[in-house]
Amino acid sequence: MNAPTSAKVLAPTVKLLINGQMVESKTTQWRDVVNPATQEVLARVPFATPDEVNAAVANAKQAFKTWKKTPIGARARIFLKLQQLIRENMKELAALLTAEQGKTLPDAEGDVFRGLEVVEHAANIGTLQLGELANNVANGVDTYTLNQPLGVCAGITPFNFPAMIPLWMFPMAIATGNTFILKPSEQDPIVTMRLAELALEAGVPPGVLNVIHGGEDVVNAICDHPDIKAISFVGSTKVGTHVYNRASLNGKRVQCMMGAKNHAIVMPDANKEQSLNALLGAAFGAAGQRCMAVSVAVLVGEARNWIPDLVAKSKTLKVNGGTEPGTDVGPLVSCAALSRVEGLIERGLADGATLELDGRKPEVAGYAKGNFVGPTIFSGVKPGMSIYEQEIFGPVLCLVAAEDIDQAIEFINANPNGNGTAIFTQSGAAARKFQEDIDVGQVGINVPIPVPVPLFSFTGSRASKLGDLGPYGKQVVMFYTQTKTITARWFDDSTTSHGVNTTISL
Ligand code: NAD
Repeated sequence: MNAPTSAKVLAPTVKLLINGQMVESKTTQWRDVVNPATQEVLARVPFATPDEVNAAVANAKQAFKTWKKTPIGARARIFLKLQQLIRENMKELAALLTAEQGKTLPDAEGDVFRGLEVVEHAANIGTLQLGELANNVANGVDTYTLNQPLGVCAGITPFNFPAMIPLWMFPMAIATGNTFILKPSEQDPIVTMRLAELALEAGVPPGVLNVIHGGEDVVNAICDHPDIKAISFVGSTKVGTHVYNRASLNGKRVQCMMGAKNHAIVMPDANKEQSLNALLGAAFGAAGQRCMAVSVAVLVGEARNWIPDLVAKSKTLKVNGGTEPGTDVGPLVSCAALSRVEGLIERGLADGATLELDGRKPEVAGYAKGNFVGPTIFSGVKPGMSIYEQEIFGPVLCLVAAEDIDQAIEFINANPNGNGTAIFTQSGAAARKFQEDIDVGQVGINVPIPVPVPLFSFTGSRASKLGDLGPYGKQVVMFYTQTKTITARWFDDSTTSHGVNTTISL
């Protein structure tokens, strides 16, 4: 926590959302929300007190009693309205997001848009939450299922997609009939709060969506609260593993989407121009702060000779403030992130990797205090090096070489993470081999960041995920509901009685 200064005292406070009201926290613990391009303090975010967490959960529990009985059509129409409001406010949302997170304005619109797609999907809840029915499973007996909401659910979100990831969570949780407690990243909560305001405007009733802020203590309180039935978490592997273990021990349903080290294979038959463009966009977009960023490229065979082209193209990318037109790479989210990424580049050199392009300390006119690192490329990277073992979460691309596709697949499968991967090739046979044999949850074929649209679910795997159901799409309907199976027989006057039957048959 930072000591208050006069500038900070003047900064507006981020509110809590409890029972439909935006309320000022009574906490004594506050943190600055800082523009990463300028270090301007934009706002102060509270670390909610235990009483405030309890009040949010109590209101959500109360609201669940009526919300769970609200007709499907009424729930769906709220999300029809919300998608309209998000579209109407897209520019404002993107500007808020860029100011506190740093990514470029077009990329901020992309962040909002990928969340908007989930809101659109939530508006289809009527067809998504249908049960099943089997007629005459025994004489005069039908079996059918109800997919009922769980109660109070909670979401804990990371800094890197402050619009998309909250929108992965609360629309589908609420549309399925649950009430929700959202705990956004304390680094960039402003755009998330604007989305919560729009949700209220769209008609989400008091208590159905609550937002509390904070860090470790608030997250632990969510994991421990007996009235919270399920938790969706997106963030680092360390915190996600803690949340999964702690909340599971408390009997909750938990899904955790966590860290990554995403590899892309570049085959020598790939369309060179398209593939290198896609690779660099995926490595350096959002300054590498995407869980689906490509951070390792495996160059196969002759593609190993493409390093000079990769470096030349990377040099053309513009590092600048996210609001400046034409910017490709904005700042890292915080000074701490900057020194961590710079430290890892130092470690890469010390570990013996070849620094093909050094993006440290770029000159960015007008943004002398920004947390910038330009595109950085290492070749000769090997397992065991810190830059390979750790998720850098910065604009640093590691290059490794492989003789053939089998060696490349084996290399990727040996990495513990399983979030995303891609292959660049013009060969259908190579692509099919890759999709069959690669042990990663989300696979791109000439698509570098294969984040599924909400007709599907996000499907990270292995060390990138804990819990068996993914966010949004069909899987999250299962996550946010409990299936109840009804087996029913109705008697009429003509039904013959066969007396007492002590066998297990229906
Ligand atoms: P983080 O784990 O630091 O924070 C995530 C959330 O956990 C935040 O709300 C934060 O307040 C809370 N938190 C932080 N420290 C905590 C602690 N000690 N105890 C309890 N709660 C704590 O993650 P981040 O830095 O905000 O986000 C970046 C990470 O998220 C990267 O590892 C990235 O790969 C991952 N991520 C994964 C996905 C995915 O879908 N797999 C998507 C986006 C981001």
